[in-house]
Amino acid sequence: MEATHKRITVVGAGMAGSEAALAAARLGVAVDLIEMRPTKLTPAHKTGAFAELVCSNSFGGEGESNAKGLLQAEMLEAGGIVMGSAHANRVPAGAALAVDREPFSRSVTAAVRAHPLITVHERELTKVPDGIVVLATGPLTGDALAADIKGLLGDEFLGFYDAAAPVVAYDSIDMAVAYRKGRYGQAADYINLPFTEEEYGAFYAALEAARSHTPHDWEKLEFFEGCMPVEEIGRRGRDTLRFGPMKPVGLEHPETGKRPYAAVQLRQEDAEGRMWSLVGFQTGLKWGDQKAIVQLIPGLQAAEIVRYGVMHRNTYLNAPRLLAPTLGMRDHPRLFVAGVLAGTEGYLESSATGWLAGSNAARRALGLPGVVPPVETMLGGLVRYLATANPQGFQPMNANWGLVPDVDKVKGQGKRERREVMYRRGLAAFEAWLPEVGGAAEPAGAGQVLVPA
Ligand SMILES: Cc1cc2nc3c(=O)[nH]c(=O)nc-3n(C[C@H](O)[C@H](O)[C@H](O)COP(=O)(O)OP(=O)(O)OC[C@H]3O[C@@H](n4cnc5c(N)ncnc54)[C@H](O)[C@@H]3O)c2cc1C
Repeated sequence: MEATHKRITVVGAGMAGSEAALAAARLGVAVDLIEMRPTKLTPAHKTGAFAELVCSNSFGGEGESNAKGLLQAEMLEAGGIVMGSAHANRVPAGAALAVDREPFSRSVTAAVRAHPLITVHERELTKVPDGIVVLATGPLTGDALAADIKGLLGDEFLGFYDAAAPVVAYDSIDMAVAYRKGRYGQAADYINLPFTEEEYGAFYAALEAARSHTPHDWEKLEFFEGCMPVEEIGRRGRDTLRFGPMKPVGLEHPETGKRPYAAVQLRQEDAEGRMWSLVGFQTGLKWGDQKAIVQLIPGLQAAEIVRYGVMHRNTYLNAPRLLAPTLGMRDHPRLFVAGVLAGTEGYLESSATGWLAGSNAARRALGLPGVVPPVETMLGGLVRYLATANPQGFQPMNANWGLVPDVDKVKGQGKRERREVMYRRGLAAFEAWLPEVGGAAEPAGAGQVLVPA
């Protein structure tokens, strides 16, 4: 039967690959799904189950004012296996969607293995295969395959470390304190946050007191000079930061002409200027400490952190240099990328990009053009970000409200209400767009999930 079907290969049966394989099979395309576990485990995975949750059991907050909530709703609408299984295996977790991890992974595995168009191959892949391929090998991609990808794309396109700085929402920056200016009179592309000596003292004391994030025992953090975490730089002495990433030279205030005691600079992250990252502020501090320290920076006292800084081993492509928003590679259109390898962060984001990459790989096999969800949807915002973000120092991104256009402010309406409007707008746009993907509809949501006996 399969000889009559078009074929693609999906590499990796994690969050992204499981979703990609099913999405392609639902479009009537046969899939060779290659997964190295359990023959070879990664340093974080412990089982041979597909979509194994390597750490937390949470898919993030739910609800109509939550950015992850919108992406969850979109994936339920699309019939995503990860969201369907998550709902079928959820455990109480307040406002978050958390799951009983073993039955969750078993149900994803069973649904993928049961599909008549999917053939599972248990082996490590060491080279990018021929034909139409979805690469979804995640943050711990096997070394040989990573080297082959590097050979294909060039050294600079594959990152092996996340050394990410926090990113804040523009509308949470106090622009009465901050000012735009480039160092030494260069273009005013940066937002500067000036410290007095007293403010710096309070900031430094808090940084010293903050506990460093405890690394997982499988990773050995080696710090390169160029991406040293701020807490490490701070440990070298009270003034080291003032001579490093917090150097105030050339950042005299445009109105007073006064040079601050120290300064933090913010660099624009997305084309619309809704998200700004703290320059040179990569950190592995625990999130609670990180938030407290960021909010001690003048101008960021009410900052909303849309992505926290992290320091850990990772494998991901420089998506803005390589990917189209369809998740196909611009220079290698037969290759699609999903999950962490494509520059996303998180279980949910990985499964969502898996679904889109699998759908578009199948569409290519069928001779159809790629599709991209509308700009108002969370998935549409995320893949546009991947394709258009600043490639310099690119770091993986998770779902957040900075990825989609804001709505007009209505008097008396708070942030929460505005986000609820954005949620409803995004979900309606996703529902209206979904038929463009095509394919025989299989029932969506939890009802389809197979739970093995
Ligand atoms: C230690 C650790 C902890 C994390 N904790 C969290 C967390 O708490 N919450 C969260 O949202 N995200 C977390 N993440 C990020 C997490 O990995 C992703 O959110 C998600 O699992 C990524 O999905 P993926 O499909 O891209 O990769 P994965 O889910 O890792 O799937 C990739 C698959 O590819 C397989 N593979 C790799 N190389 C090959 C090869 N050469 N041949 C064949 N198969 C191969 C792997 O065995 C794996 O099954 C964590 C990551 C790490 C490393």
